[in-house]
Amino acid sequence: MTALSTSNTARFDVQLAREPLSSEERAKRMQNPGFGKIFTEHMVVIPYSEELGWGKGVLKPYGPIVLDPAASVLHYGQAIFEGFKAYRQPDGHVKTFRPESNAHRFNASARRLAMPELPVDLFVEAADILIRQEKDWVPNAIGESLYLRPFMIATEAALGVKAAKEYLFILIASPSGAYFPQGVKPVTVWISENYVRAAPGGTGSAKCAGNYAASLVAQTEAKAEGCDQVVWLDAVHRRYIEEMGGMNIFFVYKEGGETVVVTPMLTGTLLPGITRLSLLEIAKKLGFRAEERRISVDDWREAILEGRMTEAFACGTAAVITPIGTVKSAHGEWQINRGETGPVASQLREALLNLQHGVDADLNGWMHQVC
Ligand SMILES: *Cc1c(COP(=O)(O)O)cnc(C)c1O
Repeated sequence: MTALSTSNTARFDVQLAREPLSSEERAKRMQNPGFGKIFTEHMVVIPYSEELGWGKGVLKPYGPIVLDPAASVLHYGQAIFEGFKAYRQPDGHVKTFRPESNAHRFNASARRLAMPELPVDLFVEAADILIRQEKDWVPNAIGESLYLRPFMIATEAALGVKAAKEYLFILIASPSGAYFPQGVKPVTVWISENYVRAAPGGTGSAKCAGNYAASLVAQTEAKAEGCDQVVWLDAVHRRYIEEMGGMNIFFVYKEGGETVVVTPMLTGTLLPGITRLSLLEIAKKLGFRAEERRISVDDWREAILEGRMTEAFACGTAAVITPIGTVKSAHGEWQINRGETGPVASQLREALLNLQHGVDADLNGWMHQVC
């Protein structure tokens, strides 16, 4: 609470929960947190209206929000979100990973959905205030973290199809363990030919709720085919690999004695992941060649069969790195690295986690100290 009085700025009011959880109860809830299932005791809300712009934010007890049934988010889907994490450092401090990058991407999503942009420093301050209040909810173990979920919804009660005039920015936090409960065990993926995630001119590069709604039926199809995740192809040629589920994808090639870490280039239909961008840089630091290219399904299969490709994996904030062990499609099936996690995926995963948890020095200035 002492920390809070200093962060009780002109931009945020503070209303603390009347009955805070005991540390025993908190420890119990944090024991096996999984992903996105338990939430901390507070949240941040900032209202927006076209007339007044962004209003005063409030840090308040976590709980339900009240919406008019005509709120336009419920009908026309103006909803965007972000995801980033706060990590416990060896000295007990807490840092977030590249939060300004998430703020900038949030605003790119807002522009695409005709929603108002939130000042980058307000986005970062909202997270800092919530994390400082909830610092006991930040787990200690490497691979565990406090997941931050900022989102924005259109709240104006109006059924006319147009950009709303009123919005809420909301930030909630969730202690998280492993995203995939089975750990870093490689997944089996299904190459979707019946559905696409994103088309040129569409919303593929925005983190909007509707992209996920539209992906669920393909995920269901993948499950029915005995797979864990869906792999998306480009909408035009139906040939080029774009992403895996809600994660970016990487391939590891051996070319002329070199290890080359390759990810599909950004075309406007891929989500520009911050993990993706960070891994491209970390890969170079580790002595690999790192490239953005176009990779077709045929390239993927042939490179595996000819031994030129040794690994494939997906990456994102929530699950960090997830190896791909088996690929299935309506036309065939192939295995990667005998279905095992490969050395490059392991090395990149460890390097990223060590940086985020403060085991390795932060030479790029990617970590943001919160408390
Ligand atoms: C959020 C997201 C990613 C990963 O982005 P990170 O910034 O690395 O977490 C990748 N693909 C999709 C579709 C996403 O929504």
